[in-house]
Amino acid sequence: MLISLNRRLVPESQAAVSVFDHGFLYGDGIYETLRVREGEAFRCKEHLRRLAESARGIALTLPWSDTELAHAIHRVIRANRLTRGQAMVRMTVSRGPGPIGLDPALCRRPTLVLIARRYRPQPKVFYERGVSVILATTRRNAPQALSPRIKSTNFLNNILAKIEAKRAHTFDAVLLSLQGFIAEGTTSNVFIVRRGVLETPALKTGILAGVTRNEVLQLARALRIPTREVRLRPRALFHAEECFLTSTLLDILPVTRVNGRRIGTGRPGPITHRLIHAFPTVL
Ligand code: PMP
Repeated sequence: MLISLNRRLVPESQAAVSVFDHGFLYGDGIYETLRVREGEAFRCKEHLRRLAESARGIALTLPWSDTELAHAIHRVIRANRLTRGQAMVRMTVSRGPGPIGLDPALCRRPTLVLIARRYRPQPKVFYERGVSVILATTRRNAPQALSPRIKSTNFLNNILAKIEAKRAHTFDAVLLSLQGFIAEGTTSNVFIVRRGVLETPALKTGILAGVTRNEVLQLARALRIPTREVRLRPRALFHAEECFLTSTLLDILPVTRVNGRRIGTGRPGPITHRLIHAFPTVL
């Protein structure tokens, strides 16, 4: 595998980042994950826009233009012969190497790492039958503590929620906001269907503005499915007719159980099916 490290292609064995990199020392970095089909990065502009916003959010000046970043993405895809079928690119920007200390000014240049590999979908049966989730006891970072607009490499509280999900033998955990509203999955957004209306937590709940979330809302409007961005209480999830998660890597993944209880009929519902079939990157 060839890695793009600061826009130079290097073999995986030589793709090393300094132990003084503040990304490693402090989790001081941002990232994006992109899907690739037939060599083309899907929604590349949206991901680069969000990366720029994350960078602004941590006062990091990206020394690369969007054109340079898009070029580096395509180069790493081609270099790894991923121009057929589906692939993914994980793009990480860290503060860069510098002496120990929190001050970002200690780091002269950010580190850019692009990892491209074949896309490995979740098992088909997950989409056919739906997955189980739990409500995590770990709460999502409060927006006043860390803006959800920053897609940071500092992921510990989501990792703690993922550990809870693993202990419960469920696919994922849904985090609540500090106020107790449904926020999001560990790396996904959440949707439910109630009385035929597609509902998803409003951005003001303190969640990441998922590229897929936005796509699904637009798609639902085009299909004339009523949508609402609201604050959702956990009971809305327990009493939902349907539920699914969205993310770049999952697309639309039905959820049919929460905390061991069936959601709706316990099978992926009709609105979920309609959206899955109309969604552009579905396999
Ligand atoms: N929320 C969180 C916390 C995430 O990490 C992700 C994955 N990037 C998402 C939601 C889904 O976002 P997207 O649809 O842009 O992949």
